[in-house]
Amino acid sequence: MNVELLASNLKDLGYAVNVFDCKEDAAKYLCANINNTSVGIGGSVTVQELNLYEELAKNNDVYWHWEKAEIAKANSADVYLSSVNGISMDGEIINIDGTGNRVASILYGHKKVYLIFGINKIAENYELALDRARNIAAVKNAIRLKKNTPCVKTGKCMNCKSPERICRGLTVLWEKPKGQDYKIIIVKEELGY
Ligand code: SF4
Repeated sequence: MNVELLASNLKDLGYAVNVFDCKEDAAKYLCANINNTSVGIGGSVTVQELNLYEELAKNNDVYWHWEKAEIAKANSADVYLSSVNGISMDGEIINIDGTGNRVASILYGHKKVYLIFGINKIAENYELALDRARNIAAVKNAIRLKKNTPCVKTGKCMNCKSPERICRGLTVLWEKPKGQDYKIIIVKEELGY
């Protein structure tokens, strides 16, 4: 994947973008730039792999429902951190959610949103980005959460009607939404699902 081209396309869509060679450098940058504020984190294996909850909590009030049931505080924090489930080379950013807290926060309500992802999230076009969000990210998350859904057995999305379905909402950012700052952090490694 041409990360520099993606970064350039995202800048054209209004986002600030930083590219890092490794997750350690990305984490160092984030910790240096997020201080003395409130931080909400969405469900994210990528954020977990960067160890950001522990590091940011040294200088900030950090709310993450993977650590404590504080979704409301996370959703009203000044800064919000999430990864993405898929992104096209044109810069379309795709996320799937079960509760809706993460996609809501990515869209609206914070002073600044950081979207952090590795090269495995990048797809050639919108259709392939959507496909990876549904058939890779969602399925791996269903497996991680030990859901009783057909994808856990088949390894691909069956568009189930299961009561345990984790895919209940899909958002696509075509451009940077108005009214809040976005910083996109691309790491030239595979991270999360
Ligand atoms: S089978 Fe259901 S839970 Fe699994 S990825 Fe598809 S919609 Fe989501």
